This record gives sequence, structure tokens and C-alpha cells, in this order.
Amino acid sequence: MSMKNYEFWFVVGSQDLYGEETLKKVAEHAKIMADAFDKAPEIPCKVVYKPTVLTPNSIERTVIEANYDEKCAGIITWMHTFSPSKMWIAGLSKLQKPMLHLNTQFNRDIPWNEIDMDFMNLNQSAHGDREHGFIGARLRLPRKIVSGYWEDTNVRSRIGNWMRAAVGAYESRRLKVCRFGDNMREVAVTEGDKVEAQIKLGWQVNGYGVGDLIKRMNAVTEAQIDAKMEEYKSRYDIKTDNIDAIRYQAREEIALRQFLENGGFGAFTDTFQDLQEMRQLPGLAVQNLMKDGYGFGGEGDWKTAALDRVMKLMADGLAGGTAFMEDYTYHMEPGREAILGAHMLEVDPSISVTRPQIEVHPLGIGDREPPARLTFQTGDGPAIVATLIDMGDRFRMIVNDVEACSPYEDMPKLPVARVMWKPLPDLSTSAEAWILAGGAHHTVMSYQLNAEHMRDFCEIMGIEFIHINKDTTIPQLSKELIWNDIVWKLK
Ligand code: MN
Repeated sequence: MSMKNYEFWFVVGSQDLYGEETLKKVAEHAKIMADAFDKAPEIPCKVVYKPTVLTPNSIERTVIEANYDEKCAGIITWMHTFSPSKMWIAGLSKLQKPMLHLNTQFNRDIPWNEIDMDFMNLNQSAHGDREHGFIGARLRLPRKIVSGYWEDTNVRSRIGNWMRAAVGAYESRRLKVCRFGDNMREVAVTEGDKVEAQIKLGWQVNGYGVGDLIKRMNAVTEAQIDAKMEEYKSRYDIKTDNIDAIRYQAREEIALRQFLENGGFGAFTDTFQDLQEMRQLPGLAVQNLMKDGYGFGGEGDWKTAALDRVMKLMADGLAGGTAFMEDYTYHMEPGREAILGAHMLEVDPSISVTRPQIEVHPLGIGDREPPARLTFQTGDGPAIVATLIDMGDRFRMIVNDVEACSPYEDMPKLPVARVMWKPLPDLSTSAEAWILAGGAHHTVMSYQLNAEHMRDFCEIMGIEFIHINKDTTIPQLSKELIWNDIVWKLK
């Protein structure tokens, strides 16, 4: 679904004390603003104007309609005038969609020479939005607050960023994750409570036997493989004579794709420990599916697979890429400390800045034939890495701001795609903070999203959010983690 298919309702509050003239103006202004938001390049989704709500009844009805509307991914409220907030209790108590409270004003400047009491009565968001803020706080309503002039591009960008988080929530609540085999044996961080994940995040995570996939692989025809090979040639350069290995990956991909499409899955996992009679660990096959938007996690990591899918959908249309990633090796040269990220095979070509190449190399892990995989270079620039862990009583997301950089030298003997990044505030503090908070070695890396997107997403979903950034210190973070333990026990 493209971003423009998700709707956000612009709900403006008032009351019937103002008289028809003022209410006509309120409606006129709200319509102009909703139309401008809808057309603004900073705002990715559709903004739908709703008639001004004046009574408890109309507020409640609008909320109930928003809850049940399939396209509505959230509501934006704004109090142009004063809308007494006891009127909002019945409606807001029933709200099941994400909410953004916009605090703005139709006019930017005070019209010094013309201002009179009529003008003041019409343009009083400065007090109407405070009344509205109180009831949000009193109801402990999770909500985003954006304040600033509505024509300002920064204000619009922040509305747009929150919309992406709300789209993530929308998609999260209907995401199906397919697991081929279980988690890698003995690994802790990729485990988790799938029932709690479905309650909290909406993820339907279910397992299938690798045999189910192999049955489909055996039914793939040579003609289907020929067609897939043409697609590979159009997307990638083939740098191997081992065409048979590529054709085998094509067979795996065709079977995987059928399986995912038939089941309506948005994300999947596999594991090198459960391949049965599969001759190669899926490499190229998985990479090409990720390029087309599927979320993936290696070694049965369904949490990262699901997060990958959700973040890809949140980022739709933004420059850069979003990819399943793994912290692999450090570069600890003073002044140039960095992390080298990759995976044994499955690095997502959505983050490539070069045309990917198909290569075939032996895999040091597992006991199968050398798998075909894509190799490529990745780009510079600000990015984030995000992880989701199960703390037993809650899910915790950890996001680290990073600066992606080109690897300092060629690595001619490393036959996988790779990324380098400098984590903020510096490698030692970032690693200490990440390890202290329990972050996984698997992450989703995004050049498209930032920490605010992820914070908004976590607030909508009601999960813990930890942000490691340029200002992070270990003593402060330690305290935050201890406090959070207590707070989340009370929730
Ligand atoms: Mn891994």
C-alpha cells in the first residue's frame, strides 16, 4: 500500500457558544489547512478534513468512525477556538487510533492594528489547545504533540514523521511473520514471547516446517527459473561461472515467494541449523526478497524480521535504505573507531550504492554447498540501528544514532556485502550503553528513518524506548534503565 492510501483525519474542536459567523470561519480555516497539509511534500499521507466537532456526541461519533475506518491510520486534533474538554472524555476514552495534537494558529502574526476581541475569540489556540492538552494528560492518553506554525516546513516534517510511525503501527497490527524452523539453538536474544508480541505489537508469528518449503521447491519448473534468472540479470551483475548455484537460489526464492504470498506474510526467518535436504542456505534468494520489501531475520530471529518489515513500510518513499544488519567486527584504531556490519550472507541490497554482484563462495558455517549471494558497497551518512529485545515483562527497543561511512580500505577476501558506521557518541560509550541495555547483535539499520520515528512508534505501541545518541553518558543511562524497570513493573 502506498503512503497516500493511509488517511489521517483532521479533527477541529470548538463549541456552539461562538455563533454561526465564528464557526463558519473555523470551518473555512480548517479546510484550507487540511488541504494544504494534504498537498505538502513533507506530509506523506492523505489528510482528510472532518467537520468541526461541537458536542460530546459529535466527538464520540467521529472517534468511533475513525476506529472502524479501514483507511484511517490516525487522527490529528486542533483547537482553533476553545473546546471544553469534558466534552472530549467519552470520545478520547474510546480512541484506538494514534493521535497527534497539533498546537498551531491560522494566522502567523498578531495583526497589531486590527486586533480586537472578535479576532481574539476566533484565534485562541493558545488557550484552547492547553485545555485540550490537559484532558490528554489527565486521561494518560499516548499522543504526539507538535507545536508551531502550520505553514512551517519543520512543523509539517514532524507531522509527516509521526504519520510514518502511525503507518508502522497500522501495519504492525496486521503483520504476519513466517518462521521456517526454530531459533538458532542456545541463542538467547532472538527468543521471545510470541503471544505477548501479538498482544502488544500485533505480530502473528507462526512456524512452518522446512519440508513445506522443500515440497514447493521441488515443484518449481525450469521455465520459472529461467524467468527468475532474467530478473537477476536485469538487477545484478553475475560474477561467477557457477550458474547452477544461482539457479538453485532462484528455485529457493520462487518457492519462498509463493509461500509468503499465499500466506499473506510480510516477514520471514530461516535458520542454517534446519535446512534438511536443501543444498544451499538461502542467500541471494533472501536478498532479492528483502529488496522487494520483505522483512527478514537470520537464525530464526522473528523479532528483527518483523521490525525490518515495519521499518521498511514506515520509510516508504524516503531516500536511502532499510536493512537487516548484524554487528560483526570492530575497528579500534584511535580516532577512527567504527563497527563493521554484515551478515554471513543475507545483507539487504536496498542499502547498496553500487550495482550488486552475484558471487558464489563457500560458507564457513553449516555444512552445505557454497551459496550464491549478492555483494555490494553501501553509502555514507546519518543512519540508525534499532533492536527489539524481550525483557520478560516488556519489550524494549534500543536505537543508536550512527554515522555510516565507507569502509576505510578494500576487503578483497571478504565475500559479503558490508557496512561501516561510527556509533554516537563514540564507539566505547555506544557499545557500553548498548550492552548495558541488552541490545542484540542483530539490528535493523536505516538510512531513511531517525530516532524520532522510532520513539513515536514505541509510544504508540506502548513499549519501552531507549535512545543512545550524541548526549548519552553511561551514568545517566544506568539510572534510566533502573528507573524504567520500576516504571514498567507498575504499568
Ligand atoms: Mn546472525
